[in-house]
Amino acid sequence: MTTYKEYHARSLRDPTGFWADQARLIDWHQPFSQVLDYSTPPFAKWFVGGTTNLAHNAIDRHLATRGDQPALIYVSTETGEEKTYTFRQLYREVNRVAGMLKGLGVTRGNRVLIYMPMIAEATFAMLACARIGAIHSVVFGGFAAVSLATRIDDAQPTVIVSADAGSRAGKPVPYKLLLDEAIELAKFPPSKVLLVDRKLAEMKRVPGRDVDYATLRAQHMNDEVPCEWLESSEPSYILYTSGTTGTPKGVQRDTGGYAVALAASMRDIFCCEAGDTFFSTSDIGWVVGHSYIVYAPLIVGATTVMYEGVPVRPDGGIWWSIVEKYKVNVMFSSPTAIRVLKKHDPALLRKYDLASLRLLFLAGEPLDEPTARWISDGIGKPVIDNYWQTETGWPILGISRGIQALPSKFGSPGVPAAGYSVKIFDEATGAELTQPHRKGVVAIEGPLPPGCMTTVWGDDDRYVRTYWTSVPSKHVYSTFDWGIRDEDGYFFILGRTDDVINVAGHRLGTREIEESLSSHPNVAEVAVVGVADALKGQVAMAFAILKDATKADTLEKKLAHEGEMMKVVDSQLGAVARPARVHFVSVLPKTRSGKLLRRSIQALAEGREPGDLTTIEDPSALQQIKDAIHA
Ligand code: ATP
Ligand code: MG
Repeated sequence: MTTYKEYHARSLRDPTGFWADQARLIDWHQPFSQVLDYSTPPFAKWFVGGTTNLAHNAIDRHLATRGDQPALIYVSTETGEEKTYTFRQLYREVNRVAGMLKGLGVTRGNRVLIYMPMIAEATFAMLACARIGAIHSVVFGGFAAVSLATRIDDAQPTVIVSADAGSRAGKPVPYKLLLDEAIELAKFPPSKVLLVDRKLAEMKRVPGRDVDYATLRAQHMNDEVPCEWLESSEPSYILYTSGTTGTPKGVQRDTGGYAVALAASMRDIFCCEAGDTFFSTSDIGWVVGHSYIVYAPLIVGATTVMYEGVPVRPDGGIWWSIVEKYKVNVMFSSPTAIRVLKKHDPALLRKYDLASLRLLFLAGEPLDEPTARWISDGIGKPVIDNYWQTETGWPILGISRGIQALPSKFGSPGVPAAGYSVKIFDEATGAELTQPHRKGVVAIEGPLPPGCMTTVWGDDDRYVRTYWTSVPSKHVYSTFDWGIRDEDGYFFILGRTDDVINVAGHRLGTREIEESLSSHPNVAEVAVVGVADALKGQVAMAFAILKDATKADTLEKKLAHEGEMMKVVDSQLGAVARPARVHFVSVLPKTRSGKLLRRSIQALAEGREPGDLTTIEDPSALQQIKDAIHA
């Protein structure tokens, strides 16, 4: 048996041999003539000359062997709808939508913007685009008009697929209204808008432009649309990053490399194979949704669960009831979502039969040890962190149980995944830090493995400028995250490079302080930012959400609680890391993908404007920060 170490080493020593082997995990129409073309670094082309199709790999190739197996299970606690589509039924729906899009004038290489709630039609639309070689650009359904308009203008779609409304915690979100506003603002409006009518909100249709999905579907019931065979490097989609640290970047993904990487990740990391049921609680508007709701489970012949609803409605047991009912084997969620559950009754974690569930994966943000332990003990299953980015499309760091049963370490997302040459570089000098336990920027030596972004949509220069340096001698991709590596090769992510604070000459990761504060038993969630200080350069300031807020509901109790929390930091990290203040709030400003907007908190704490807020989830959270500071 190969050890993981040897397996990973081979992926770097012999990338062409290694990836040629992995390429067998998918179907090719024409075989590739070259595994990797890295003649113009940092641009990497994988499986040159090979032609394939994502929809073929996700659906068609399974029809003969598993046509009657469920492919997509749709559950909505917003509308009460539950529906299962077998691979054959999914095939039919995707062919219909492919026919509809072609009928609306979409051809290979055209962009189709998908602005939809978590409904099955969104998945059909993505796969239909893949089928006909159109490039989808899914925009998260919670974005308002201005954010949507920017993305319309960047992607310049021929057609937009949308719906009358989404629904969040029982309240309709008027997609069509927002979309009309966005199209009004856009310089490159689409020629057609295809609209699913869920009858959740009133819809005014624009004659000549707006087309009803159900009506058009009825005209395409029997369509069979052949797959377009795309060259491996032809784009499959554009997806914008979350915008946590600035203007979102349009990540462009290829076709062949992506399919191969996803299939390999399902075997190596997610331990999920044909016939299994995979449930990712993400949204199709994010990269986790693209890779692990839609493409990866289907490519390997697994059943995927798509859930519309919040994690605590009707109560905090809803996910686990889905696991029981549909015999979910593998789950994927985020630390933010788990922290939401943490504020609810832990008995709900034990209420359902979770026998089918093997593993729970979490990604998207640092996973603090208390949260990891809470959920792992609560459901009695291994909880596995993994670290990656919209840019990479699949994990950079993970625990590869599929090759060898590697142990997890709390606080570490694991070791580099196959094909990633992950290194730590000194931010100031650019030198590689080869010794363990040295803090630096986490970077990947080029070429990036298959599946990673190939460029910024329409802007090769921005891609190179933003991500790549040729220091010291090779092309190096920056993740913009801080990290360290221990003597066993496990990495620890310490936060983003712009989340480091400098207190009297000591450089501290905000993550370390947050982690320390969250070990206080009454802390549900906490954000730490650096605030300018005349004396020390910067000081740490914390904003915490308490599990039991009554423990700090008077000034006296607040001060006592604050003191207790500071003591935790003193004893764990030392007084230098102690926050100057700990403020209590009931909500923290986050992006719509659930990431803390430290940038905005910091701006407010320093008395500045909060900056670009187009991706914020709940603007009222900013008011709480302001109030807390001025209280
Ligand atoms: P933008 O790049 O637009 O500012 P973003 O970085 O939040 O937004 P994503 O691609 O959604 O956009 O997020 C990737 C980032 O999330 C990583 O660079 C890292 O900072 C963080 N992250 C993801 N997974 C983990 C993890 N397991 N542990 C720690 N941090 C993580
Ligand atoms: Mg990022």
